[in-house]
Amino acid sequence: MNAKIALTPGDGIGPEVVDEARRMLDAVAAKFGHTFTFTEHLLGGCAIDKHGTALPADTLAAARNADAVLLGAVGGPKWDDPQAKVRPEQGLLAIRKELGLYANLRPVRPHPALAALSPLKPERVAGVDFIVVRELTGGLYFGTPKGRETLADGSERAVDTLVYTDSEIRRIVRLAFQLAQQRRKLVTSVDKANVLESSRLWRKVALEVAHEFPDVKLEHQLVDSCAMRLITHAPSFDVIVTENMFGDILTDEAAVLAGSLGLLPSASLGAGRRGLYEPIHGSAPDIAGKGIANPTGTILSAAMLLRHSLGLAAEACAIESAVKATLDAGQFTADLGTKSPLSTVQMGAAIRGRLE
Ligand code: NAD
Repeated sequence: MNAKIALTPGDGIGPEVVDEARRMLDAVAAKFGHTFTFTEHLLGGCAIDKHGTALPADTLAAARNADAVLLGAVGGPKWDDPQAKVRPEQGLLAIRKELGLYANLRPVRPHPALAALSPLKPERVAGVDFIVVRELTGGLYFGTPKGRETLADGSERAVDTLVYTDSEIRRIVRLAFQLAQQRRKLVTSVDKANVLESSRLWRKVALEVAHEFPDVKLEHQLVDSCAMRLITHAPSFDVIVTENMFGDILTDEAAVLAGSLGLLPSASLGAGRRGLYEPIHGSAPDIAGKGIANPTGTILSAAMLLRHSLGLAAEACAIESAVKATLDAGQFTADLGTKSPLSTVQMGAAIRGRLE
C-alpha cells in the first residue's frame, strides 16, 4: 500500500519520540512491502516562533492531504503565559476541529513486567485491557452561552453550557460499539443521567444504538461510580464511551493504571479514515534534548495509525507484539525505573529489532 503520513513533531521531546515512531513505520514498510511517504510540519510552540500561529496554513493543508497525522507533543515553559493570545495547544484544538475529529481513543493495557509501577496493587491491574472512547468536539467545553459577567452588585457570574445533539451522541456511541465488536463485546456508556438532561439523551441514544449491535452488551454507569470502578475493578471494562469532560477526567485516571505516561498511545478519529495519532504525554520539557524520553507511546500511536487509518491490522499487531517482547525482555527507558536504562534511540532500535 502507498500512504502519505504527515508528521508534526511539535515541541520538547516531541521530535525525539516522533523520530523513533517514523523509523518504526519505515521498518514496517520494508518488512510488509508498503510505501509510506512522510512530510514534516510545524505545530504548536515551534510554529508560533516561526509563523506567529500554532497551526500554520501549510501544516493544515498537509494534514488534509495526508492519510494520517502523527503528532509528538506541543507546549513548554517558553509559551506558558496564560495571558498570551497565541498558545501552543490552540494548534492541537484547531487541527482536531479542522479535520472533524470527534472521537478520542485511548487504549489502556498495562504490561505485566511493569505492574510494580502502577499505584494499584498488582492483582488489581492484572488483566486490565480496555479502551476509552471520549467525545471530543461537543459538551461543556464548546457549548454556548459561555462567559463571565459582573452583576449590578459587583459580584461575578460565570456560565458554561453542556450541549449535545442526538446525532453527535449516535456517531460516537456507534464507534464504541464497532470497536467492541472486535474486542470482548461490552460497551460501558458513562453518564450522569440521574442529574443531567444531556446524559438522559445520551442514555436514550445509547440504547437505540445498542439495537443495531445485538452481539454487543451495553451497560450504563454513572461517572462517579465509574471513577471508583476504574480503581477497584478495572479488568471488568472493555470499551468505555463517554462525553467530553467526563472522558477528559476518566482518561487521565485510567492512564495512571499503566504506571508511566510514556507508554500510552491515542488516536483522534472522525467520519472518514483520516486520523491524528499522538502519545498521551506532553512535551516533557524537564527531559527534552537529553535523549532519554520513552518513545513507546508514540510507537504504539503509529500502530493505531496503521490499524485505524490504513486498515493494516496485522502490521499494527506486529508493532504491539514487538513492544511487548521488548518490555518482557526488561529493556526499558529511565522513566520505567531500571538500573541500566536505554536511551530513546536505543529503545526504538530494541523494539524495531523485535518486529516480526
Ligand atoms: P508531561 O506529560 O509533558 O510530563 C509529565 C512528566 O512525565 C514529566 O516528568 C516528564 O518528564 C514525564 N514524561 C512525559 N512523557 C515522557 C516520556 N515519553 N518519557 C519519559 N518521561 C516522560 O506533562 P506536563 O509536564 O504537565 O506538561 C509539559 C508541557 O506539555 C506543557 O506545556 C503542557 O501544556 C504540554 N502538554 C501537551 C500535551 C499534548 O501535546 N497533547 C499534553 C499534555 C501536556
